[in-house]
Amino acid sequence: MEQAKHTPMMQQYLGLKARHPDMLLFYRMGDFYELFFADAEKAARLLDITLTKRGQSAGQPIPMAGVPFHAMEGYLARLVRLGESVAICEQIGDPAASKGPVERAVTRIVTPGTLTDAALLDDKTESLLLAVCCERQHAGLAWLNLANGELRALECAVDALPAQFERLHPAEVLMPDGLRSEPTGFEHARGAAVRRLPDWHFDAAAAAHLLAEHFGTRDLAAFLPEDAGISEGFALGLGAAGALFQYAHATQRQALVHVTALKVETAGEYLRLDAATRRNLEISETLRGEPAPTLLSLLDGCATSMGSRWLRHCLHHPLADQQLAAARHEAVGELLEMGSGGGAGDSNALHDGLRQVSDIERITARIALKSARPRDFSALRDSLAALAGLREALAAANAPLLLDARRQLATPGDVLDLLQRAIRPEPSVVLREGGVINDGYDERLDELRGLQNNCGEFLLALEAREKARTGIGSLKVEFNRVHGFYIEVSHAHVEKIPDDYRRRQTLKNAERYITAELKAFEDKALSANERALALEKQLYEALLDSLAAHVPVLQRIARAVALVDGLNAFADAARRLDYCRPEFQSAPGIGIQGGRHPVVETQVDDFIANDTQLGTTRRMLLVTGPNMGGKSTYMRQVALIVLLAHCGSFVPARAVCIGPVDAIYTRIGASDDLASGRSTFMVEMTEAAAILHGATDKSLVLMDEIGRGTSTFDGMALAYSIARHLIGKNRAFSLFSTHYFELTRLAQDHPECINVHLDAVEHGSRIVFLHAVEEGPASQSYGIQVAALAGMPGGVIRDAKRHLSLLENRELAQRADSHQPDLFAAAQAAPPAEAEPHPALEALRELDPDALSPREALERLYRIKLLAEE
Ligand code: ADP
Repeated sequence: MEQAKHTPMMQQYLGLKARHPDMLLFYRMGDFYELFFADAEKAARLLDITLTKRGQSAGQPIPMAGVPFHAMEGYLARLVRLGESVAICEQIGDPAASKGPVERAVTRIVTPGTLTDAALLDDKTESLLLAVCCERQHAGLAWLNLANGELRALECAVDALPAQFERLHPAEVLMPDGLRSEPTGFEHARGAAVRRLPDWHFDAAAAAHLLAEHFGTRDLAAFLPEDAGISEGFALGLGAAGALFQYAHATQRQALVHVTALKVETAGEYLRLDAATRRNLEISETLRGEPAPTLLSLLDGCATSMGSRWLRHCLHHPLADQQLAAARHEAVGELLEMGSGGGAGDSNALHDGLRQVSDIERITARIALKSARPRDFSALRDSLAALAGLREALAAANAPLLLDARRQLATPGDVLDLLQRAIRPEPSVVLREGGVINDGYDERLDELRGLQNNCGEFLLALEAREKARTGIGSLKVEFNRVHGFYIEVSHAHVEKIPDDYRRRQTLKNAERYITAELKAFEDKALSANERALALEKQLYEALLDSLAAHVPVLQRIARAVALVDGLNAFADAARRLDYCRPEFQSAPGIGIQGGRHPVVETQVDDFIANDTQLGTTRRMLLVTGPNMGGKSTYMRQVALIVLLAHCGSFVPARAVCIGPVDAIYTRIGASDDLASGRSTFMVEMTEAAAILHGATDKSLVLMDEIGRGTSTFDGMALAYSIARHLIGKNRAFSLFSTHYFELTRLAQDHPECINVHLDAVEHGSRIVFLHAVEEGPASQSYGIQVAALAGMPGGVIRDAKRHLSLLENRELAQRADSHQPDLFAAAQAAPPAEAEPHPALEALRELDPDALSPREALERLYRIKLLAEE
């Protein structure tokens, strides 16, 4: 009944909308895409476009908002960036032939995680679609990069989810309806759009069937390694992959022919970096969320966006396998030599060659999804033609990685030939205007185009003939878009007009006529144009189909270009910034000579290089020194050097040798995790706890000023016991900076703990930081001098100095009396035998907490407190 009140067009709209309830529906009407009802209100708000009303439906005016069709991409891009999804509905019927509303259908769905359009994607970052499902303490993740066809999955403990979200940074996340709340650590998937799907989409058996069918294999055995995941048969990972694949398929409405494999990531493939470490090391984003200065911004001298994306991925995925990383070092070393003029090749030639290559990776994805544009084809053609130059530039290469890349860069002659023949040198931007398919590619098209081109000749011949026939010298045969072809004769000659002329139009000074012959020509010419456009479209689609068969080859080329470009960027950085080739060793330890912080060194005039020696007899460096002395910089530089070495890059140091490493953990700086509502101290302790649970004797751990977020004694006690746990239990390689001078005493009881300090000297009333790391604990903390440097009023500084000496004198006096032994001495020294125990202590000792009710416990507590106060 309701439906009956709507106009036929609105009924059509509501029918389409019902199938896409949770996305904005762009409904094509003439030159506009219109949105109605709640969609219109939302779009008006998000896009700042005018909200109007259209007619009435069911007795109410319909809210409406529209965007012009030629400007749609810009609006789409904005909506997608805001996490919205859009279903685009086109007119597919012929308006002239249809009764009622033109037939319409949704032809394209755009969601944040399934972008492949050049206009909507950022060149240098990936846009990932991720699916997650959880069962008790286990989680399955699958993610798809539709713009290159990479499908990956893994299983992990729920605890590891924050690190995964931080690493993958998905644009869109799919999760089962049944998962009531967002999964652990979801706040690390900053800005991702969330979509909930029915639970059965995550069914593992259905997923296995669907994927095997897609890959054309009997089952998925080839894709699932022995040690895949933690659930039985990798059920959680498969469930996620199935839901993901189904969703991608539904939004694209195309077979995803460029998704050719499922890659299962297993633990231990990459160095583990937890969520905090990824942020703290400022790999691709500063702590403030900016893109520079970061490790990526420093190293990204890539010539192609494929290279830039490879580099970003590489820096977030340090290889745990030393041999794989060393193979990259070898390649980088060779590229470096080529560039310095010593080698036979020339890496500048390589860089120049790479600049000729467009984004083949994304073009290939668009070919697979049948959404490639004419300029994609010409770009692909020119890129393939440039491969020969790249192979040439790599002719002298010997490193296995480069040899392999050069093989992959073989020009696919058939594809290049096809594109050269089929596509005009400079095709028009959109297919509907024609001018895309090359002359000489298809006879029928040539003939139709010939008709159009012959037009001029025909008209001239006709004009000459008619002039002769009528004796009117000023007669003209012409064409305009509105009136078609005509013969124009000025009024003065009207009497000479032959009988077969039909009047078409009267102007002020002239009459326009048509003849049967001219009309016949007009019909042929106009239909030739239409037929040529239709034929061009047909040829274009056939071309897309035949290129689809070459998708795997094109993908391999794209990967090889990305790799060569990325490695060349490492070589370029090594040359520009004077990096050295790191060595790996099988013995545990990290040795760095003359290490530098890659980012800080580019920002200060004189960076002081420092050594680092960690090994089985030096597991912890306890770093002390004044604020601003360079402690954080020093600790981070060690982590960054280790990270870079495992990415295959050269490193900012004089010489580096690294033993097996499985993870890098950092607990640095105090930042409130406002998103998840935890205080600074809570964040600090959560991160520290995760490190104590996760670090092994192959892990590198950075702890910067732990325990700062609470009172002095609390903080100091925690820092002390955390350090002891790291040395004794985790036995991790640790850099532990602290402003609690008392902690330097750890070295006395633990020979693997070594004190080092950053020095400063007082210069008059000022302080000068030396930034050099020396063995031994710092002599003083210079807090007041730093405060002076910060511009604290002179009176406050003098007052603080007075107060400090008072405190120091009192401390000395107390130590001399040894009435109050210091905190850690108390923990280790045996209690004096003769001392009378305090009655409160006595009461505590007698207490059996398990035997007490909460109420009794509270009463006892009051009593003990009284005893203590007496
Ligand atoms: P801390 O952690 O001890 O407070 P930081 O590591 O934050 O000190 O360093 C403070 C500043 O000192 C840095 O921003 C940098 O400008 C400078 N600095 C640090 N280390 C060095 C170094 N090795 N050489 C030169 N300048 C340095």
